[in-house]
Amino acid sequence: MDMQRVPAREGNYNLKNYDELRSTFKWEDVHKHFSWNETGKVNIAYEAIDRHAENPEKKDKVALLYSAPGREESLTFSDISKKSNQFANVLKKYDVQKGDRVFLFMPRSPEFYVSFFGILKTGAIAGPLFEAFMEQAVRDRLQDSEARVLITTPDLLERVPQEDLPDLEKIILVGNRSEPSDKYIDFYEEMEVASESFDIEWVDLEDGMLIHYTSGSTGKPKGVYHVHNAMIQHYVTGQWVLDLKDDDVYWCTADPGWVTGTSYGVFAPWLNGVTNVIRGGRFTPEDWYSTLDKHNVTVWYTAPTALRMLVSAGEGLVKKYDFSSLRHVLSVGEPLNPEVVTWGLKAFDLRIHDTWWMTETGAQLIVNLPSEEIRPGSMGKPIPGIEASIVDNEGNEIPPNQMGNLAIKAGWPSMMRAIWNNPSKYDSYFINGWYVSGDSAYRDEDGYFWFQGRLDDVINTSGERVGPFEVESKLIEHPAVAEAGVIGKPDPQRGEIIKAFITLNPGYQESDELLEDIRQFVKTGLSAHAAPREIEVRDSIPKTRSGKIMRRLLKSWELGLPTGDTSTLES
Ligand code: ATP
Ligand code: MG
Repeated sequence: MDMQRVPAREGNYNLKNYDELRSTFKWEDVHKHFSWNETGKVNIAYEAIDRHAENPEKKDKVALLYSAPGREESLTFSDISKKSNQFANVLKKYDVQKGDRVFLFMPRSPEFYVSFFGILKTGAIAGPLFEAFMEQAVRDRLQDSEARVLITTPDLLERVPQEDLPDLEKIILVGNRSEPSDKYIDFYEEMEVASESFDIEWVDLEDGMLIHYTSGSTGKPKGVYHVHNAMIQHYVTGQWVLDLKDDDVYWCTADPGWVTGTSYGVFAPWLNGVTNVIRGGRFTPEDWYSTLDKHNVTVWYTAPTALRMLVSAGEGLVKKYDFSSLRHVLSVGEPLNPEVVTWGLKAFDLRIHDTWWMTETGAQLIVNLPSEEIRPGSMGKPIPGIEASIVDNEGNEIPPNQMGNLAIKAGWPSMMRAIWNNPSKYDSYFINGWYVSGDSAYRDEDGYFWFQGRLDDVINTSGERVGPFEVESKLIEHPAVAEAGVIGKPDPQRGEIIKAFITLNPGYQESDELLEDIRQFVKTGLSAHAAPREIEVRDSIPKTRSGKIMRRLLKSWELGLPTGDTSTLES
């Protein structure tokens, strides 16, 4: 991709010499930052919360800075420690045991975070579900995980098909419900009488901590099982990649129903003892800008889909806010279009740092560090301790600049330990010692990795392999185009032709001239073979609830095929 490279800026970054560390680093070096290294007693909830609550200098520091339309609240490390103790006592009262699955289906709120740590303190396995899930999605996940206890709100209870969930013994309701039942437990009533001290359940580093269901971009979501050991990587990537320091105000926009919202919305900031902003409610550009401004956010972790919407909202809006506190911006979840990086330089005078990882990987693996040059369109380089490569279908490494399977040498700390209830699926990720991601990418001579698309999304047109990401990125550089999703459409002559689905920016009307102009724009800006033969204007592009373009759905619609699992489709 022919974009200006963006050099690193001067700064007091936690990780300055990446290349040097890369050759000397061992994961064991991180152990000394945890109290279990000396005490032998492990629990991620202790390291993230209680350890700070026991520290006279940290205990009254604001850990959670919560705001939502109509509610503002802040909790210190000491507050979260006590409240999560209380909640752990509630769970014990109802006989929750180590290893039980306890699920959360509720909006982002202080109660969510308190409950989450309460679960971990009992040694149970937490399972967060995104609040916008409808009945089918809730049913699938609670059945698959055989959850015993669910924490939810009276509003969301309607979407919990209790008759289909024989394993679900108790439902803890955050909020009032008039009709009494043996099954329902009142959160606030129980919390009021629960003790603020609790004997935390010490576990093994390899004991279960979390089940996250994947986004469902490529098919039925998988229940990804993570263990306490992941904290090693959450902590150290918080240092290196998020560059967190004691006085930072950090905001991760992801919902805790997705892995980014726990690994980086909960663990990385709190393992590092940093103030964490949680914003409830729905996304609007005004709301997000004012959150950055009002809380003087310094480090911001967000996603391409939101950034593209901010780009569309225009520069006038940017000028209304003060972003002078902001010093570090990162992105994850989808490829970061070069156009967005260029916009970030203008809008915030900051570089936006792309990071690549997956639910299955538990933490960041390939990233752009603040101390390194950014090549817009590239997801960066592997962090120290991670060996990444491009392999063929037999797991053999292939040379630079050739597209293949993006793979990671298996065995990093935060790697999933199972796919819940599906051992053969788990095994299918590993070939020849490599974890094979399912993403297609290439590596350049300098070790930067370039995402091309999901393996299934790569388009074969007239003998050329085209990644949809490149075409989409070029499309949105056109002033009329807001978002784009690109697929291969079977064609008897060319194998596949490129078909683009786009949404238009405000002020643009669909016309043959405009579509031809867009086509020419890709043709001259990228290449003739990558220019879409068909362009269809839509009101919206189908996305997962975590904000990812669902190309498989565009394709099934186009071909009139069954749509498969759509439980995570944004409505
Ligand atoms: P499912 O596995 O259910 O199909 P999903 O893969 O979208 O859904 P996640 O684990 O949330 O579920 O997302 C991981 C995927 O997101 C990666 O495999 C990759 O395709 C994409 N992704 C994440 N970050 C980046 C990035 N920085 N650049 C490009 N792609 C990314
Ligand atoms: Mg996936």
